[in-house]
Amino acid sequence: MSKIKVAELFYSLQGEGKYVGVPSVFLRTFGCNFTCSGFGMPKGDVSNERDGIAVNIGQFKSYNDLPLVHTGCDSYASWDPRLKHLSPVLTTDSIVESIKELLPNKHWKEEHLIITGGEPLLGWQRSFADLLSHEGMAGLKSITFETNGTQKLTDDFKKFLFQHGSKNKGNVEIVFSVSAKLSASGEKWEEAILPAVVADYEQYGEVYLKFVVDKDSDIEEVDRAVYVYRDNGIRGNIYLMPVGGTDQIYFSNFKAVAEMAMKRGWRYSPRLQVDIWRNAWGT
Ligand code: SF4
Repeated sequence: MSKIKVAELFYSLQGEGKYVGVPSVFLRTFGCNFTCSGFGMPKGDVSNERDGIAVNIGQFKSYNDLPLVHTGCDSYASWDPRLKHLSPVLTTDSIVESIKELLPNKHWKEEHLIITGGEPLLGWQRSFADLLSHEGMAGLKSITFETNGTQKLTDDFKKFLFQHGSKNKGNVEIVFSVSAKLSASGEKWEEAILPAVVADYEQYGEVYLKFVVDKDSDIEEVDRAVYVYRDNGIRGNIYLMPVGGTDQIYFSNFKAVAEMAMKRGWRYSPRLQVDIWRNAWGT
């Protein structure tokens, strides 16, 4: 039986992108190939909030105890090895049972499934086929993989997506929400912008590109990235989303980001989880 190290499993509304406002089960896998200390913070800076949290790790017994951060990755606990004890390794059977408990009717109806991270397309791809073809997942109509767009799909997972995805032979809508990491995240362009990888996703589902924008200088880099993705044949919609792990940051820049999107004929994505729940864990 396959297993997945699960950082969070909860039921909420999708807060971002194409399915914003849709009731959804979120499966957050553990692990990421990036560390995104950035969004303005140099890597390894001792003032990094995440390092401060890790120093006091003993006092945090669960996700809900963890502080929100103002800079860097707002889902840091889903990949920081110092916090890995908060993410249990679960069998696909037990994940399906937990999902049933979360669904209002105890089985899938109109709800959406979001597989997120961390980076969910790391090694967990080998378990997704088992999970998604489990009899307890019958009735599921649509799935979004929230990815940073750097991980190639494995041959086995491609076969599964081909059989089950509505783009090919199946009837489940498969969506890849690609949130490419620009320099504000602290990651390197040549490691973060991999258009050939993302172009391959489009063979198996719908792809849209989502960019987190903070200030004017970010948008020039987004323009450059969009040019590169388009030049590689990627046709999916573009979303701009304001930076904002916390409401103070989010509410200070969302109008400017909306105007940047309008000016380019792109879509704007809110962060509904900040609007409604102030980005608390489990939302
Ligand atoms: S790629 Fe995403 S999950 Fe991974 S560290 Fe960066 S922001 Fe966090």
